[in-house]
Amino acid sequence: MKPYADPERDILVARYGVVGDPIEHSQSPRIHQAFALATGQRLSYDKYHVTSENFASFARDFFAKGGSGLNVTVPHKIAAAELADALTPRARTAGAVNTLLHTLDGRLLGDNTDGAGLIADLARLRAPVTGARIVIIGAGGAVRGILGPLLDQHPAEVWIANRSIERAERLAEEFKSASRPTQILTCSLIALRDVGSADLLLQATPLGLQGQLPTLPNSLVKAHSFAYDLGYADQVTPFESWALAQGVGTAASGMGMLIEQAAEAFFVWRGVRPDTAALHLAHQSSRSATSNKR
Ligand code: NDP
Repeated sequence: MKPYADPERDILVARYGVVGDPIEHSQSPRIHQAFALATGQRLSYDKYHVTSENFASFARDFFAKGGSGLNVTVPHKIAAAELADALTPRARTAGAVNTLLHTLDGRLLGDNTDGAGLIADLARLRAPVTGARIVIIGAGGAVRGILGPLLDQHPAEVWIANRSIERAERLAEEFKSASRPTQILTCSLIALRDVGSADLLLQATPLGLQGQLPTLPNSLVKAHSFAYDLGYADQVTPFESWALAQGVGTAASGMGMLIEQAAEAFFVWRGVRPDTAALHLAHQSSRSATSNKR
């Protein structure tokens, strides 16, 4: 897609940032600063801890004072979609925004790069998507962002399993479309034992942040299965450990998705697509170093 930002706005050093609550754990400043260095772009990128009550006033003030773009993370993605003057088609489909920017005519545009980030990372890892049986655990904001782009890859079947089944059902209803023949099925976490095995199993709850994972039946994965945790950490996540213990072919964390969604946001803002290979490599080496220390 074409970038929307106005480089003329960037008089001195263009100001970007990520806003969320919590935000301490965010790796986005490190990633965007690496992209800026590699592409020779002059910009600053900071993290901002902002609560839900203050999100709209913070974002308006940031842009009024000349800020060029914001990434938006938990729990503000839906509020950001409501704040934007206009949405890109993929943000409209998601009903959630992770990237805000000023357009040439001064309007605030909301975009969502999460889905593009996941698809790019799954392609990099050669994970099964087209024709695959996909099971997603969770039905929150992240799943809103990834569901459309996943369905565009024509999987054979998509299951959404969630603690509150109503939320999964609402998502399935919203994303059902005549132009997308893939069947979207829903179930509770308990009913997962009757679903059978996934070619691609996506973990999209924030439980890993507390060192936990949802209770999952072993029948969900087989040796050919690819297990992907949208959550990420310097070490192997609890979900990756569980999947590897069940004997899956491959398990991966969401750090790759984080890097790829950031690259897409950087392109939307700056019109330059950063090479992500060096960051993927650096993450892999830091993980091996961590696991070697154990
Ligand atoms: P949300 O808060 O919007 O959704 C959370 C989901 O997890 C809901 O489906 C919720 O179920 C479920 N959940 C929460 N607690 C539990 C629990 N104790 N047991 C079972 N299910 C639970 O979060 P997001 O969708 O925005 O984010 C989900 C994860 O994805 C986060 O870890 C986030 O960091 C990660 N993420 C990673 C990205 C990346 O680039 N790698 C990008 C975006 C997100 P219920 O509906 O019943 O409450």
